Amino acid sequence: MSYLVLARKFRPKTFGEMVGQGHVVQALENALTTQRLHHAYLFTGTRGVGKTTVSRILAKSLNCQGPDGQGGITATPCGVCQACKDIDSGRFVDYTELDAASNRGVDEVQSLLEQAVYKPVQGRFKVFMIDEVHMLTNTAFNAMLKTLEEPPEYLKFVLATTDPQKVPVTVLSRCLQFNLRPMAPETVLEHLTSVLQAEQVPAEPQALRLLARAARGSMRDALSLTDQAIAFGNGELLENGVRQMLGSVDRGHVFKLIEALALGDGRTVVDTSEALRRDGMSAASTLEEMTAVLQAMAVLQAVPSRAESADSATDPDAADTARLASLMPADETQLLYSLCLHGRGELGLAPDEYAALTMVLLRLLAFKPSSAAASPASTEKKTLNEAPGAVSVPATVASARGTAEIAAAPASISVAAPVPRSNPAPAGQRLAVVSEPVRQGGPRPAAETEPSPAAEAPRVLAVPMRVQPPPSQRDVPRPDEQRGPAPPIPPSEDGDFWHATVTQMIAAESINALARELALQSQLVARDVDQWILRVERELLNQPSAREKLTDALAALGHGVKLAIEIGGVVDSPARRNKQAADERQRVAEEAIRSDPEVQMLMREFDAKIVPGTLKPA
Ligand SMILES: [Zn+2]
Repeated sequence: MSYLVLARKFRPKTFGEMVGQGHVVQALENALTTQRLHHAYLFTGTRGVGKTTVSRILAKSLNCQGPDGQGGITATPCGVCQACKDIDSGRFVDYTELDAASNRGVDEVQSLLEQAVYKPVQGRFKVFMIDEVHMLTNTAFNAMLKTLEEPPEYLKFVLATTDPQKVPVTVLSRCLQFNLRPMAPETVLEHLTSVLQAEQVPAEPQALRLLARAARGSMRDALSLTDQAIAFGNGELLENGVRQMLGSVDRGHVFKLIEALALGDGRTVVDTSEALRRDGMSAASTLEEMTAVLQAMAVLQAVPSRAESADSATDPDAADTARLASLMPADETQLLYSLCLHGRGELGLAPDEYAALTMVLLRLLAFKPSSAAASPASTEKKTLNEAPGAVSVPATVASARGTAEIAAAPASISVAAPVPRSNPAPAGQRLAVVSEPVRQGGPRPAAETEPSPAAEAPRVLAVPMRVQPPPSQRDVPRPDEQRGPAPPIPPSEDGDFWHATVTQMIAAESINALARELALQSQLVARDVDQWILRVERELLNQPSAREKLTDALAALGHGVKLAIEIGGVVDSPARRNKQAADERQRVAEEAIRSDPEVQMLMREFDAKIVPGTLKPA
């Protein structure tokens, strides 16, 4: 008997067997059970997530005759009738799959459509499945439109694409659209485990974990890689073999690197990078593994209770991840993640991949946020006690990170450590007045977090305006407390235009919340005659419904264009402009306070200064 590859052997044959696409499966099952069937379906999603599979199951559901030949349309095709068997083996005359990647032209589409006039030969429905439909030429799309709009009642279209943005709106609007999600590594892992149990192939859990990660959300890739690994490992899956096959980096190196970065230990960083070169480990997968670990750390930092529920039997990395998560502040984790992610793109540009890797890692050290070096509260208390000129009254300790904020009676005067401008305390909490000029700009070097000499010991006089309970999670600062002042936005015509347009749409209330978020967070990067390109940083913002609403609202303003969304860095978005304007108002408000005679008196009396960013404009 010939060997059937895992991806084909374990291709789901019913909706119930489909993994990780519950939302799509449920919608289709409901439609089939209630017989509310659309005539055209569009399945989108990356490769290997089940687009073809779902199409075949749908064809079976429509055509299944049941084991006794009496069945009708069903959400649970029997798998034993002639129709089911023929569709599974690719011999069903009324089910046609056309691969648009290799049949792009109008001729291929037309010859397919010519068959549409004939009633099904064998089944209840003819099903035309067009895979990678975005590859069709424009003429081919146009040839298809008429039939797609009003097909004969015995004809169903199933379109599939990895790139729905390239599918014309005229086609999209005629289809019921389903997005198949990339699968989470845990889902893939679970499936691989059950497949290998069924195949009786011994496998180390860590080996499967590596394969599940390498598959990047594609079940087909996961199964193909597993086939390859079984051949490589001569019938068993061992962690070392799989690691070797994938060229992936031992997590030990990755943990060591992150720990060294957390501790600011440059020597270990350089040594480890050289060890990676010696061992022939890939620089790209080092950064990739680092991002995976950093992501897990960030989750733990945001949701510490996850650490307790993590099962060290299924995830051998859990303990190390938790340890590193406690070593590194959340903002630094974010920064490292971002630098690692973007650093991957640089590797190919440098003549020496490992030199580039070393540079990326050292950049992490160079841009380390100041907060990492010492616990802000302890440093401040020290400064407070040692500063001889300090006004000794019941004190509010102003924390640089805004996390050690303690309630104090109104009108008390307090003493605190220098507040770096890059980490402003939450606005509106108190009006703080300082004796020393406050550091402006970049993060301070670690050495400066030591208490400064007594003569220069800065004093803060804080007049609490509002009482703020101390946050319960000391180690998890809210994101808005971490953000420093944004760099000025360079002027641009597109930026001006987009800001004005978005403001107008919001004022006219012509867009809903999702579309508004997309509009506010996006940068207009190109304006062609019939298409505008917007860039957003988060894929999440790019929802088809939001895009559609925004397109409509723009059309209402006389801009009848198609919108294309790309994912990337955003410098100039309406949201950022609004933030900059708010910052400017803040500056003006501080200016006003500064010129207030009473405050001026205070400042003269105590040789004090206002801490920027500590008051809120009315
Ligand atoms: Zn059947």
